[in-house]
Amino acid sequence: MASAPVILANAEIRDEFIADGMQRLRRGASAGDVAESIACAVEDDPDEHTVGYSGWPNILGEVELDASFMDGATLRAGAVAALKGFRHPISVARQVMLRLPHVLLAGEGAARFAIEIGAERRDMLSPEAQAAWQQRIAAVVEDEEDDAITLTVRALRERRGSDTMNVIVRDAAGNICSAVSTSGIAWKYPGRVGDSPIIGAGNYCDNRYGAATCMGLGEAAMRIGAAVQAVMLMRLGWSLEAAGCEVVRQLSELLGESTAENHMSRADWVRILVMDAAGNVGAFATRLGLRYKVQTADDSYPLTREVVCPA
Ligand code: ASP
Repeated sequence: MASAPVILANAEIRDEFIADGMQRLRRGASAGDVAESIACAVEDDPDEHTVGYSGWPNILGEVELDASFMDGATLRAGAVAALKGFRHPISVARQVMLRLPHVLLAGEGAARFAIEIGAERRDMLSPEAQAAWQQRIAAVVEDEEDDAITLTVRALRERRGSDTMNVIVRDAAGNICSAVSTSGIAWKYPGRVGDSPIIGAGNYCDNRYGAATCMGLGEAAMRIGAAVQAVMLMRLGWSLEAAGCEVVRQLSELLGESTAENHMSRADWVRILVMDAAGNVGAFATRLGLRYKVQTADDSYPLTREVVCPA
């Protein structure tokens, strides 16, 4: 089925990465290749502190990366969690999908797989991210005997901005692919895995109904299976707007009843990007003021829009 290409992305992605992806779609590139290449560009961007190189480290000062990739034509998916020391987690995630009879590899197994496929190694900790971590640790250490649990709980009382890479691409053949890549929450406990590599929580994609990806507090998106819920509501005939608003209402309830003691609060938020099977797009969030980007084949550059925050 011929269709008009469209790219839906989070607002923190540079315009040129999205515009370059659209250029490639116009020339016939596949949704999967374009989603991967946009994600790789963001992973290399040193100014992007929640994705790839220069991502914020965990409480021990190590950069642990999560990524997932889903193909809406086949429902095949691949993901890596808590991966250390590789330049492009999104490419490793896509290769998990293509080469293994598995969906998700974590930690040492993910690193082993990355080595076996010849993925490029890189020290992902930038001097800037290291300095920010040192500053945060200095602010929360009270006793040299403090363990990682104590330090994580204290460090997370103040959140760093989230800007996980979310991209949903629909190509000229009507195929949709979604890619998510992140360093997760800054100063997280080692091994903490968020929603981004969990298919159904932070990423879901099905050509027949649409796709959704999440950014923000992963613990909330995981607890309600946010991405798959949005797509399943569209499968049941809900409009994109109704589906996005319903998922956000559930997330708001969850965040609203949480307390600082259990590490979630009203200051936390989630945003979900949604595309329907026809390529219509929208974004919904538990708080106002967040934005997203969309580019169709007719636009030379992406347009930035405000998310909908349902009452
Ligand atoms: N969703 C990501 C996570 O919880 C964080 C983010 O969006 O920055 O790992």
